Parts: sequence; structure tokens; C-alpha cells
Amino acid sequence: MTKQFFYPLFLILFALPVQSFIPNNKISQIPKSTVRTVIIDPGHGGTFSGAAGLSSFEKTVSLDVALKFGAALQAAFPEIKVVYTRTTDANAGNRQTLREDLNYRADLANSSRGDLFISFHCNSAGKRPGGWYEKVVVGKTRKTRIVIKRKKKVKQAYYEYKYENVWRENVASGTESYIWAVGKNDAKVNSVSKNNEYYGEIDSTATEAVELPDPNDPAEKARMLIYAQQYFKKSLTLADLVEKEFTKRGRISRGVKQRNDEGIWVLQATGMPSVLVEIGFISNKEEEQYINSDKGQDEIVEDVLNAFKAYKQKQETKPAAVTTN
Ligand SMILES: [Zn+2]
Repeated sequence: MTKQFFYPLFLILFALPVQSFIPNNKISQIPKSTVRTVIIDPGHGGTFSGAAGLSSFEKTVSLDVALKFGAALQAAFPEIKVVYTRTTDANAGNRQTLREDLNYRADLANSSRGDLFISFHCNSAGKRPGGWYEKVVVGKTRKTRIVIKRKKKVKQAYYEYKYENVWRENVASGTESYIWAVGKNDAKVNSVSKNNEYYGEIDSTATEAVELPDPNDPAEKARMLIYAQQYFKKSLTLADLVEKEFTKRGRISRGVKQRNDEGIWVLQATGMPSVLVEIGFISNKEEEQYINSDKGQDEIVEDVLNAFKAYKQKQETKPAAVTTN
């Protein structure tokens, strides 16, 4: 049965109090909010490499994990339709610019009538993947010198500093799940400073800045409102479940974060619950190895799949009218 048919039916059904016309023992037959189509979005790709590690690029790791997740999802739920925004190392839809690439992803998700959008990315921090040398003071010696003051020679004390190049390991590690922040004034919204050491989900290989759509544009306003009313809570639910699974696995969870920037614009542009999972820091030597390994990727896939299973069950055990209001 198609969704086009379902929606008017929902409206008629829930215009009246449910119990008034459905006997109690029939309540389980109320159409549920189901997850039929899942859009899987491997971050970056093609000319957009994303963050760089010591030996790998974000675009490659995110594609590997996304394809493995899709296969695992399909094996667990053969009835679910899986749509990928890309399956090869190419710009999404072979679009040229970053803006077009992101638009393609959102348009594909929307035209495929996705019920859920999951994007896979790798995090990045610090000045360089692995680590970097930093000049630091390691000691000082008190010395004196003769200076002329009011035509008189006087002794003046000063310090001579000793510097050394010290290795700074790039230690940031762990997972994060992003959802689109509903309001910019929300206290939980992360402020993103571009000169900050932490640069997270900003495409370092982009040659152009992606302009966010004008929030005063009526179409954009409507879309933000719909997202806020219908998809925000579901996105938060899934993101929370994903981070809980990572924690159970013993990984460091940096939690669920809300943000509003070009790097995760695609989340809000999709008319469905949407989550962006940062599976680990590619800039951290050990974590880069983990997210590139079969063991690491299999564990990540299992964790996200467990979260998905719990999310799906949660959606489908509540009547649609309750979950969408
Ligand atoms: Zn990314």
C-alpha cells in the first residue's frame, strides 16, 4: 500500500478519538509509524575528501561503513528499502560543487520518500592528524646585563628561556551523533569557531563556502517548522540510542550534539528524521586504525544497527498519531 493512500486515512482516523470507534482489542491494528525506506548517506566523496587521517580519508571510511551498514540492515530487514546517496568514490550524483552535491543528497532522500536519513562521517580535531610538534619553554636561566639608565651603567636581571619542540599527540577520540538544532537560540547548540582547534564537520577540502538557505525564505521556514514539529524528537531518539550502543561497546561517547552549520545542512533539508553519526576521530592515530579495520567497522555497524532496531520498535509500538504530534 502506498503512503499517498495512507496519509488521508490517518487524518480521518485520528480526527476522532480512537477509542470512540475502535474496540479495545482492535487497537493493535491501528496503522503504526513504520520505517519502510532508509536513506544511507556516506559523507563526502569524490573531489570532497572530508577530513584526512595519517593513512586514510574520511570519504573512504564513511563509504565502507555505510555500505556495510546497508548490507547488515538489508539482511536484518529484507522488507526495508535502502537508498544510498552514493556507492562509489564520487561526488554525490556526480555534481560539481559542494552545494549541488548536498542538494542532490537531500533531493534524493526526499524523492525516495525516506522514513529515516542516516549519514556516516568521521570526526577530526587538532592541527594535524596523529599529532604535531609544538615549541614549548622547558627552562629558564637568570642572567644579568649592563644597561645605561640616566647616563649610568646599571645591572639588570633578565631570563634566558630554553625552548624545545615537544610532540603533541592528537588525542581527541570518541563518537558523536549530530542532529539539526531547531532554534539558533537553543542553549544546547554548539558554537562552531573556525579557528578553534576543533573543527569537526567542516569540509576541509571544499574550495567554496556553502551558503545556508535563507531562513526567511517561506519554503525554508516551512521546512524548518515541519522538521521541528515532527522529526526533531525522532532524530534525537535515534541519536541517543546510537550513542548508548557505542557506550555499551566501551567506546568514548561524546554524546548527542545539535548544530546548525553548512557541514550538517543536509540533515535539515531532508523531510524525515535524520542523524549524522561521527564514527570516530580520523585524526587520532589509534582511532583511525580502528575505524579502518574490519573489526572496528563491524562493531560500528552492529552498534548502529542495534540502535536502529530499538528505534524502529519504538516507532512501531506507538500509534502514529502520538508519535507525530
Ligand atoms: Zn564529514
